[in-house]
Amino acid sequence: MLELTPKTITERSALRVNPCKSCQPVGALYAALGVRRCMPHSHGSQGCVSYHRTFLTRHFKEPAIAASSSFTEGASVFGGGANLRAAVKNIFDIYDPDIIAVHTTCLSETIGDDLNAYILDMDIPDDKIVVHANTPSYVGSHITGYAGMLSGFIRYLADRRASPNGKTAVFPGFVNPGDIREIKRILHLLGLPVIVFPDQSGVMDAPMSNTYRMYPEGGTSIDDIRSLGGCGRALALGNFACGQPAGDLEEKCKVAYKCLPLPIGMEATDSFVTEAAGSGGVPQELEDERGRLLDLMLDANPYFYNKTLAIFGDPDTVVGLTAFSLELGMRPRYIITGTPGDAFVRQTEALLDKYDVTDAVVKAAADLFELHQWIKNGPVDLLLGTSYGKQIAKAEDIPLVRAGFPVLDRYGHSYMPIVGYQGAMRLAEMMANALMDRYDRDCADEDMDIVM
Ligand code: SF4
Repeated sequence: MLELTPKTITERSALRVNPCKSCQPVGALYAALGVRRCMPHSHGSQGCVSYHRTFLTRHFKEPAIAASSSFTEGASVFGGGANLRAAVKNIFDIYDPDIIAVHTTCLSETIGDDLNAYILDMDIPDDKIVVHANTPSYVGSHITGYAGMLSGFIRYLADRRASPNGKTAVFPGFVNPGDIREIKRILHLLGLPVIVFPDQSGVMDAPMSNTYRMYPEGGTSIDDIRSLGGCGRALALGNFACGQPAGDLEEKCKVAYKCLPLPIGMEATDSFVTEAAGSGGVPQELEDERGRLLDLMLDANPYFYNKTLAIFGDPDTVVGLTAFSLELGMRPRYIITGTPGDAFVRQTEALLDKYDVTDAVVKAAADLFELHQWIKNGPVDLLLGTSYGKQIAKAEDIPLVRAGFPVLDRYGHSYMPIVGYQGAMRLAEMMANALMDRYDRDCADEDMDIVM
C-alpha cells in the first residue's frame, strides 16, 4: 500500500496529501439532514453534490438526499440566480419538503453569488422556507460547514420573541445518530426538558420498512428551531462544531450558552452530566453506568498502560479520544486534525499537560501523509481514527480502531455510540481487543493464554 511513503519529512505549507478532512458542504448537508422534512440543496455543479452525498451515504449506509443548482458554463459566467430559482420551484413542486437548506460550493462562492439577495427576491410559497449558509471549501472543513449551516438555521428561524419554554437547547456536535440517541437517553434519564438541534437520529439511521420515505420521522422540527429562542440556556457539545451556532443563538436571542467538550470518556461525560443535571441530581442508573466504566478501565489497565497511539479525525472527536486515552493510561504520541484552528492545539496541549505528557506532537490543518511519516520515524502501538488510517495500518502493521468520521469500510458504527459512559465502554472494549489481538498474534506460543 503506502510502504513507499518517504521517511524524510519535508515541511509543506500549501499542499495537503491524503487530507484528514472533507469539504464544507459535506458538513452543511449533514447538518441539514438533522432538520425534519428538510431538503439540503447544493448551490454549485452536480459533481460537487454527487461527491457530498456519496461520502455521507458511504459512512451512514443510508441514502443522503440533496438537490443541486446544476451549474453549467452559463451559470458559472452569469451567476447561478436563475438556476437556484428554478431549483427551488422544482424541489417544492416535486419533492414537497417543508424547508430547503441551501449551501454554497467553491464555484458559486468564487463567482460571488449573493444567496441572501437571491432568496429575498424569490417566490417562496407561504408555508415553505428557504435558508442558506456560505460554505466555500477552500477554507475550513466539513466541521466548519456543519457549524455554518446550523448558524444559517438560527439566523433565519430562531425566534427572539419566542415565549420562554423552560427548556435547554442542546447542540450535540458532529456525531453519529447513535451518539445523538445516547445523548438524548442521558438527558431523558436526567429528566431535562430539551430541544436537541440538529438531530440526525431517525433520519440517517431510519429503520428499514417496506416503503421508502424521503423524509423519515426524525430531525428537529422547524417549530423547535424557532423555539430555541425561548430556551433558558444552551449546551454546546464540542467547540468546533457547535461553538459558533450556540454563540449566534446567544447573540440573536440572548440564550446564554456553555461550551463543553464532546462527552467522550469519563471526565468529559462527568462534565456533561453534571452541567445538564444542574441542581437536579444524577439518577442511580447513570451512577451505575459510570461505575461499570470505571471497573472496565481498571480491569483492562495492564493492556492500556503506557501504550502509544496516534489519534486523527475531527477536532472535537479527537480532543475527546485524546482525553479518554489519557484516562486509560495510554500515551498519545501523534494527535492531528485536518480542520484548521489554533484552538485545537491549545485544547489538546492543555489535556496533555494535565497528564504530564510532554513528547506528543499535536497539529491542526495536518494530513495523513505527514502522520504516516512521523509514524515511520517513531512507531506507535495503536491507530485511533477514521478509515483513512487503513493504509497506514497496513503499511506499518499497526492495529487500527475506527472511530469518528468517516468510517467507510465497516458496518454498524453509526448506530453505536462512543459518547457517554456506555460509549466509552464500547471504545475501551474495541481498543483493548485490538491491543490484545495484537499481543496474541505476536507472542511466543508458551505465552499464549486463554485467561488474560
Ligand atoms: S469543488 Fe469545492 S465544494 Fe465542490 S466538491 Fe470540490 S471542494 Fe467540495
